[in-house]
Amino acid sequence: MKCPKCGQEMIDNKDFCLNCGAKLKEEKPAMTKKTAIIVVLSLIVIGVITCLCIMYLGTGKELEPFLNK
Ligand SMILES: [Zn+2]
Repeated sequence: MKCPKCGQEMIDNKDFCLNCGAKLKEEKPAMTKKTAIIVVLSLIVIGVITCLCIMYLGTGKELEPFLNK
């Protein structure tokens, strides 16, 4: 295995080049993207649930005086 940055021959199991410090093992971008999608979806779901709760509580409070009459 050669370092892609400086071309120094490296031991396979190293994460970084000992000569120039370049990163030899790339992190999987698919995992990061998947995690980001899960986080975004979770935030949307939480947002929708919060909106529904606020709307439900809001209408409940608005209807209360009318129901008591
Ligand atoms: Zn290097």
